[in-house]
Amino acid sequence: MLSCVGYAATAANAPLAPLAFERRDVGPDDVRIDITYCGVCHSDLHQARNEWKNTIYPCVPGHEIVGHVAEVGSSVTRFKKGDFVGVGCMVDSCRECTSCKEGLEQYCEVGFVGTYNGEDRQGRGITFGGYSSAVVVDQAFVLRAPTSLDPAAVAPLLCAGITTWSPLRKWKVGPGQRVGIVGLGGLGHMGVKFARALGAEVVLFTTSASKVEDGLRLGAHEVVLSKDPDAMAKESGRFDFILDAVSAKHDINEYLGLLKRDGVLVQVGAPEEPLPVSVFSLIMKRRTFAGSLIGGIAETQEMLDFCGEHGITSDIEIIRMDEIEAAYERMLKSDVKYRFVIDMTSMPASA
Ligand SMILES: [Zn+2]
Ligand SMILES: [Zn+2]
Repeated sequence: MLSCVGYAATAANAPLAPLAFERRDVGPDDVRIDITYCGVCHSDLHQARNEWKNTIYPCVPGHEIVGHVAEVGSSVTRFKKGDFVGVGCMVDSCRECTSCKEGLEQYCEVGFVGTYNGEDRQGRGITFGGYSSAVVVDQAFVLRAPTSLDPAAVAPLLCAGITTWSPLRKWKVGPGQRVGIVGLGGLGHMGVKFARALGAEVVLFTTSASKVEDGLRLGAHEVVLSKDPDAMAKESGRFDFILDAVSAKHDINEYLGLLKRDGVLVQVGAPEEPLPVSVFSLIMKRRTFAGSLIGGIAETQEMLDFCGEHGITSDIEIIRMDEIEAAYERMLKSDVKYRFVIDMTSMPASA
């Protein structure tokens, strides 16, 4: 077994602390990765604190992983020692169902294996995530990461990046389209960058006047303050596509009303409470209200390659591993521009 050090939650109310644990040895199809950076996703906090009531302790979060290949199994052909690689939210799936065969492993009909808090399909226990020194992953779920970019700023592409990229691609966002991005956080800021790079006319909607300047800097052509009823009324019926990245309670009908005939609003933020939809928002202009979950492995590779070509990364703040609890508290207040990333050289050598 491979001895690892990680940061783990041992109970819902316990702060994350160093933990020594073991990972499986490198099998024929496995890649062992020495982790250099791991992004901090809202899901990490939800899972560590058992807010979804399904956490198995100890829990080592982290699913925005980048690092270097340290060892490959005998059947591994796609990677070699030293390669810069990434791992996102999934480390396995059934590989046989319709979704898996279509490259949509995130919708695997028996459920994909999460990078942490997931149950290994070969009975090797519960998965541990990227808040750790190393990880062992099947080569089919390892991505080639662009080497031309700041490696720390690549990490959040593995979850925040693909979560926004996938719906933009699925609904073929591109030149000639007016696209709205709702909310400027970890997800929203990637949505703005991608929609702009794909050639759309991009409008950011935010509740906060302090984010106007940043929205424009990140690539939005216009920023609309969603609390201003006159500004919102001017946008009525003008959008081909809207990506809603807000996970707080908000009025979805207000945004559905901004769509043109046949326009699509895709929800990627996940509010805890149901969002009431007025059916009239949909039927009067044959609009679609949809959702989307991360992205498949091939699509994630496409996104990383696109980022390499276009120089796109996440805006980040680097933290030390022992600053994680403070980072969680700041994240809860949306006080981060726009993703925390843990520098794994700050991981203690032993627990
Ligand atoms: Zn995530
Ligand atoms: Zn499947």
